[in-house]
Amino acid sequence: MTIRRLPETIINRIAAGEVVERPASAVKELVENAIDAGASRIDVVVRDGGRALISVVDNGRGMMADDLTLAMMRHATSKLPEDDLFNISSLGFRGEALASIGAVSRMTLTSRQQGAAEAWSLSVEGGKIGTLQPAAHPPGTRVEICDLFYATPVRLKFLKTARTELDHINDAIKRLAMSHEDIGFSLSDGERHLIRLEPSSGDLLDQRIKRLGAVMGREFADNAIPIDAEREGARLTGYAGLPTLNRGNTAKQFLFVNDRPVRDKLLYGALRGAYREFLASDRHPLVALFLDLPADMVDINVHPAKAEVRFRDAAMVRGLIVGAVRHALAGAGHRASTTVASAALGAVHASGLSLGGGMSGTGYSQSIPGELAEQAAEFYRPLAGLDGPPSAPSVVMENAEEPASDFPLGVARAQLHETYIVAQTVDGIVIVDQHAAHERLVHERIKRGIEEGGVNRQGLLIPEVVELEEMSVARIEAHGAELLELGLAVESFGPGAVVVREIPALLGECDVQGLVRDLADDLAESADALTLKERLGDVAATMACHGSVRAGRRLNGAEMNALLREMEATPHSGQCSHGRPTYVELKLVDIEKLFGRR
Ligand code: ADP
Ligand code: MG
Repeated sequence: MTIRRLPETIINRIAAGEVVERPASAVKELVENAIDAGASRIDVVVRDGGRALISVVDNGRGMMADDLTLAMMRHATSKLPEDDLFNISSLGFRGEALASIGAVSRMTLTSRQQGAAEAWSLSVEGGKIGTLQPAAHPPGTRVEICDLFYATPVRLKFLKTARTELDHINDAIKRLAMSHEDIGFSLSDGERHLIRLEPSSGDLLDQRIKRLGAVMGREFADNAIPIDAEREGARLTGYAGLPTLNRGNTAKQFLFVNDRPVRDKLLYGALRGAYREFLASDRHPLVALFLDLPADMVDINVHPAKAEVRFRDAAMVRGLIVGAVRHALAGAGHRASTTVASAALGAVHASGLSLGGGMSGTGYSQSIPGELAEQAAEFYRPLAGLDGPPSAPSVVMENAEEPASDFPLGVARAQLHETYIVAQTVDGIVIVDQHAAHERLVHERIKRGIEEGGVNRQGLLIPEVVELEEMSVARIEAHGAELLELGLAVESFGPGAVVVREIPALLGECDVQGLVRDLADDLAESADALTLKERLGDVAATMACHGSVRAGRRLNGAEMNALLREMEATPHSGQCSHGRPTYVELKLVDIEKLFGRR
């Protein structure tokens, strides 16, 4: 066996495997270089998902002729003047992107330094550097990559469709654009523009929300809560979406460390923790969060693509994120996202009523009257119907004489189907799902109780014995201390039974049997190490299910209003523990639109 040093081109191809995973990673590196060069405009064109061509043009500082050759070499950089890896203020610093890309493609660098009279250009093909040529180019730099990965056919085979690669490129540029609002960006596939972002001016926060709105959509800008928190020299700013605005994946979670987009497990984990009580585990919030901390508190040199970072004090960072996001969400009070109302109206539109088109065409005029008449009869059914079976649709009119006041959730006017509270606000109506709302209120009351040292309990006049399987008894017993803190005094009672002596006072009249059985089931499901407190959302949901205000229970006007007022005063009450809205608000203008009156 002979040991030999690998030739430079092979070393660069090996490095390229780590730095340039796919066309989007090359685009990311080039755009980062343009940002580091102080550009105020960066224009990207790609063809065939970046396989055939990637071109990045900037109006930054530019390079002198000699720099072009150096730039192509591995470990050549202008960005570590002090040789200090713990004080990095630029996006690049490893000096290997251009060398790596040049090793696996045909690349041409054309550049003119600001103030210089002429431009120069230099090509590299599969790692072989050509000769410097004079060129015509305005101040700034143009990098053109043709046939990416032609020199590494295996990598080429792993690429996905042009459409998918283009999506990744789009995402990479957007992420960089979000933390650089003073730079204009564009992306074109040769036929149309996928990104067109003007540099935004104005004060910093203003700029940021403008840019975030442009990238993430109006919906996000309208339904996100600003965050600004500081801890031990680290600062977290940005926007956290309301829980009711959620997605099935984390694609719309944008995280930045010192303006560098990162996909860091610790940060994603902290976010999950912050939203745990408001979202089911398979739903994900939309966020754009910017963490800024002194360069010596974070190591960005963990990963060749610089997507992951290490924090000196991970617990502090996690605490900062969880604390700040929760605090912001609590400040949002009963707010549910505006998308809830649009979704509701969308559903009405989709249900086949022709809107705004008058009575012409469609089956509108024939099909509705019969149904309407029936509904009207139902609506005007005398209150005597109140004592009918609970399954019968019913309506209770309440507070008819009370004027609509400026309570955000209005004055309760009616209860429909023993499930929905309809309230009148100054400029619209609010429909509350009383069961979902109650679940959330119970959740928040338990939380407050725990913070104050334990949930208030109410003794049962006659202790209630609940028969259960041995396994369930054992589980309940094992969690006895925790359940007591949550307001439930329960202990084992001979073989196959437990006895409940006290229940959480906030539940009012309570179906103790059902509650204990369901809690035992909850415990069986959480084979993992989560404590009941960490699964407070589930516990609260179970408790609320057996408490007095559930779906199917009739409420009088005072009770309904009390529920509305409590919702207004309770943080997070706009969504149930699983991220579904607890109420829908329809503005009169929207309702008028439904009837074609606008
Ligand atoms: P790094 O960014 O880590 O320094 P690169 O290989 O990406 O490594 O770039 C090497 C060097 O080439 C940079 O340090 C910079 O001096 C120069 N360079 C690259 N792109 C540009 C650009 N668009 N404008 C000006 N200089 C550039
Ligand atoms: Mg670079």
